[in-house]
Amino acid sequence: MRLYEAPPLPPYSEEKCTNELDRILKTSPKVAVLLKGIQTLNKNALSRGITCRPCMGTNQESRMGYYDSRYKRVVLCCDHIRSRDDLEDTLVHELTHAFDSLRKGKFKSVCHLVACGEIRASALGQCADITPEKKKNQCIWNDAVRSTEIHCGLERAEKTVKEVFQNCVHDETPFQ
Ligand SMILES: [Zn+2]
Repeated sequence: MRLYEAPPLPPYSEEKCTNELDRILKTSPKVAVLLKGIQTLNKNALSRGITCRPCMGTNQESRMGYYDSRYKRVVLCCDHIRSRDDLEDTLVHELTHAFDSLRKGKFKSVCHLVACGEIRASALGQCADITPEKKKNQCIWNDAVRSTEIHCGLERAEKTVKEVFQNCVHDETPFQ
């Protein structure tokens, strides 16, 4: 017996991504809170805006999106996005990074800073609606370790995520 599996949805085109992004910018309460928080801290943090573009074949091809603090923009990798939820979750994740890049915080090391940011971005973004709590925390944990690993190596990433998890997962600024 072979179980039927629905084929994955096709990726978004740049145009579809841009249209959907437009709608989300107008209607998502979460995105509105983050944009307002970013604006309050620094009006220029997103001066180049939020754009959709394909990432396959670039050095960002393993990502669904990223915040580029040097060029002051969020990029959504349309060729990795397959639904409105993907798009909104990725946008919330990256806007959380943009917001955090403007905050002053004290961290023991760069890895602690990165781990905390990834925990927050995953908790507010792609893991936000998962229940029960245990499964949600597993989602946050796995994604934070994977993203922190890129900068710090696996062993250090696991150790650091563990150290900062409780504090950072409960920090829901600029929400609440
Ligand atoms: Zn991230």
